[in-house]
Amino acid sequence: MNTYTRLPVAFTRGEGVWLWDEQGKRYLDAVAGVAVNGLGHGHPKLTQAICEQAKTLIHTSNLYQVLKQEQLGAKLAQLSGMDKVFFCNSGAEANEAAIKLARLHGHNKGVEIPTVIVMEQSFHGRTMATLTATGNRKVQAGFEPLVRGFVRVPYNDIDSVNQIAEHNQDIVAILVEPVQGEGGIQVPQPAYLQELRRICDSRGWLLMLDEVQTGIGRTGTLFAFQQTGIVPDVMTLAKGLGSGVPIGACLANGAAAEVFKPGNHGTTFGGNPLACAAALATLSAVEEQDLCKQAAETGAFIREALGKQLAGTSGFVEVRGIGLMIGVELDRPCADLVKLALEKGLIINVTADSVVRLLPPLIMTHDEAQQVVDMLAPLIKDFLARK
Ligand SMILES: *Cc1c(COP(=O)(O)O)cnc(C)c1O
Repeated sequence: MNTYTRLPVAFTRGEGVWLWDEQGKRYLDAVAGVAVNGLGHGHPKLTQAICEQAKTLIHTSNLYQVLKQEQLGAKLAQLSGMDKVFFCNSGAEANEAAIKLARLHGHNKGVEIPTVIVMEQSFHGRTMATLTATGNRKVQAGFEPLVRGFVRVPYNDIDSVNQIAEHNQDIVAILVEPVQGEGGIQVPQPAYLQELRRICDSRGWLLMLDEVQTGIGRTGTLFAFQQTGIVPDVMTLAKGLGSGVPIGACLANGAAAEVFKPGNHGTTFGGNPLACAAALATLSAVEEQDLCKQAAETGAFIREALGKQLAGTSGFVEVRGIGLMIGVELDRPCADLVKLALEKGLIINVTADSVVRLLPPLIMTHDEAQQVVDMLAPLIKDFLARK
């Protein structure tokens, strides 16, 4: 169906940070399938794990024990310090699980209309509950009636959360991105998650972090929350987890990990051996190749180098981000830049109308990052110089 305005290019092969199209033209990939291909394209360890698992066993269903799923669950619990995991197939599904978990937690406490606090400019997915949670009218328009049980506050604003807490007795959870991705790479003040943690603790609410985009090394640590000293009650993952093999996860800690009982939630495909093998290979490559550290360093380099080259350019607002989540804000809509970059052999993304978004593979080297900067900065300057 006509759900995407697609760019006029079809990639047929990839290796590392490079993609090739049907004509054999080469492109430098600074989007990584929207924060999915953290290991780049054709990573030998990943392709080997997928091939071996495909030959052995692809799917049996969750009616039986699934050994690869148990291994992946244990690994994610160990890496996050959280207790339990539900596996699904996408970010939206992971957030659906989180929202259902919050509602059940609320009903268990006797709250009749359990309500989740969500943020302006957030993005949580395209299912009915997650598009309702999303703070973007374009995502919601035409799909009313929306789902009940959400209230919205500005991002990075603790006072608004406190105000709502004063007169809404139905709040059971906060759902928030540690850094807003689709919203334009918005990085909150350093103490934001800690403050939210404190409010949740004092009110008995669940702190639910949507790490679908920030997770799996993207921000310079395996999970973004690990830079804050707090642990969430619920965390959702997807994008980078399976390196392109669809998998999502909803992790829970403490009492939240005990909310779901058999029959409360389920999935046919979620956590199948193939997807779990891809995720296990992804996590071990991230660990072995020290990709979190590399993401932090490469990201800092790109932000600094772009900032230097663009400084003083009329129409350039700022470069911001964390790790390999990078936003270049301009003073005007700049969706046209995506096509201009593509012609030059560079893959970039634009979000929130006026923010160039870079989400390069975690494996990007310093030299490749330099090439991104050297291609992108002149493109932006030329674009801003046009009438
Ligand atoms: C992409 C994204 C989602 C939705 O994930 P899908 O796999 O497309 O359903 C949810 N939350 C955040 C923060 C995302 O970036």
